[in-house]
Amino acid sequence: MRLLLIEDERELANALSAALAKQGIVTDHTMQLADAFELTRQHAYDAILLDRRLPDGEGLTFIPKLRRSGTDTPIIVLTARNEPLERVKGLDIGADDYLGKPFLVEELMARVRAVLRRPSNLVEPSIVAGRMVINPLHLNVTINSVSLDLPRRELLVLVALAKRKEKTVLRSTLEAAVYNYEDEIQSNALDAHISRLRKRLLDAGAGVTIHNIRGVGYLLKEE
Ligand code: CA
Repeated sequence: MRLLLIEDERELANALSAALAKQGIVTDHTMQLADAFELTRQHAYDAILLDRRLPDGEGLTFIPKLRRSGTDTPIIVLTARNEPLERVKGLDIGADDYLGKPFLVEELMARVRAVLRRPSNLVEPSIVAGRMVINPLHLNVTINSVSLDLPRRELLVLVALAKRKEKTVLRSTLEAAVYNYEDEIQSNALDAHISRLRKRLLDAGAGVTIHNIRGVGYLLKEE
């Protein structure tokens, strides 16, 4: 899962990005609305977390602009302006949810999962590949009901491959699933993750193999 966080309090943004990373979520962070719009052109986000008081304007003005551009990515407004009428304003302008600061990361995560469960944002509830059942929202993998523990980046690669099983997934798509745009990506890091992932899947009897399509990407096949 990849989120866009639009927030000008650097400390909060860093803490939030780190907490979300622990949950296996890649977060791109920007402090300005102008950059935010550009980022939504470049990446398909699963959800957007939007502050209201930002250096280049009121966060809520971003919502109609984004909707007019044809993007229906769910937006959760995060703000200290949490009076009932402010919440009404936020929801009426097209936000999917509204969360008052301060909040627990656990509550934010629950709300992200909730907006993604809504019919128009329906994420495939679980992916079956080989003997694995993968839940892309909760990021867990089970084989015959036994959970398979994977390091976060290997898990994200696996989800990205399993979503498009039997099809080649481009290296750039896999990298986008694992790294945010500030991470420095070593050219062979992806290959190293995949090589470790292959071994773990083989050991666990996952019933899938990952093939390298040289220079293009990778392909997950069911045995
Ligand atoms: Ca702010």
